[in-house]
Amino acid sequence: MVINFAAGPAKLPEEVLKEVQANLINCNGTGISVMEMSHRSANYAAIQEAALNDLRDILNLPANYKILFMQGGGTGQFAAVCFNLLGRTGVADYVVTGSWSAKAAKEAEQYGKVNLVIPKEKKFTTIPTEETWKLDPNASYLYYCDNETVDGVEFDFVPEIPNGVPVVCDMSSNFLSRPFDITKFGLIFAGAQKNIGPAGVTVVIVREDLIGHHTKETPSILNFAQMDKNASLLNTPPTFCIYVMGLVFKWIKRNGGVASMAKASAIKSRLIYDVIDKSNGFYSCPVEKRVRSRMNVPFRIGSSVGVDALEKDFLAQAESQGMLQLKGHRSVGGIRASLYNAITVVETEQLAKLMTEFALNNKI
Ligand code: PMP
Repeated sequence: MVINFAAGPAKLPEEVLKEVQANLINCNGTGISVMEMSHRSANYAAIQEAALNDLRDILNLPANYKILFMQGGGTGQFAAVCFNLLGRTGVADYVVTGSWSAKAAKEAEQYGKVNLVIPKEKKFTTIPTEETWKLDPNASYLYYCDNETVDGVEFDFVPEIPNGVPVVCDMSSNFLSRPFDITKFGLIFAGAQKNIGPAGVTVVIVREDLIGHHTKETPSILNFAQMDKNASLLNTPPTFCIYVMGLVFKWIKRNGGVASMAKASAIKSRLIYDVIDKSNGFYSCPVEKRVRSRMNVPFRIGSSVGVDALEKDFLAQAESQGMLQLKGHRSVGGIRASLYNAITVVETEQLAKLMTEFALNNKI
């Protein structure tokens, strides 16, 4: 048995993979694979349309929010957001709470003025509460990352920004893991490769009135207006990825929707954090409890900075029991357990059990 705790690309529901396999060389009775189908064909159009409708349904999206399927990953959106939204005033608010929002802010500096809303930190372990934020009243938008995949820091609130400044949110690593009210956002985006599909497609949900404000240098491929006008078929889309993502949307619907994903996420993350908190410091997670991520649980073993031999031994034992890809991000080290939608409670219990046993066997 193998349990894949990867941070992304990450585990997909086995049911979905089996469905992909069964239809791989004969998709929906067409006699060909989805990979071999024209993106302009009626057969493919039905696949993309179903994915769009299912997502709209899952999130209960109002008609004035458009869904775009884009390429270039989350990193592409770091730039796309600037090209499309920064032109109005040339300045934007960035809430840097981890490595990914730091990268987004750095990208934005190439195109305009970036106002850092909270003080710059070397280590990311908390999210200062909103009343301490230093907003620029002139900002074109406020940007934040809902879940920092590397650092394990997740927002427990949606910012309420005065004067109608649109909120832009990177939900790459917690998209569809809990319900959210889209009307509080101007735009959200999510690369698929964590909770919703294979790498290669990025979902963008944008409020209609924010489309069409791009600068004239905006590359067509990053241009929301062009993408919207062409129903995400401006050029050849990542057809296979969109197909698989569509099957994941159906899997989420069959399994109780985002509310049920949220319930499971709470149970799974609590299992791991409980072992950490009850270990008398054998395990430690640097993140403030209020903003601990339900998706990515980073921890150290043996001390707050980690004991290399123990961490190596833990990873080896995990691997020998089939628990894969638990190594922390190369920039921070340690261990990271990613608990995306496709990871089950039973699988998480296996990890919690290993952690408990490992602590007992290695207590100094
Ligand atoms: N944002 C977040 C929160 C991420 O986790 C990642 C990738 N792990 C990115 C953005 C960048 O995405 P991509 O690699 O698809 O460009």
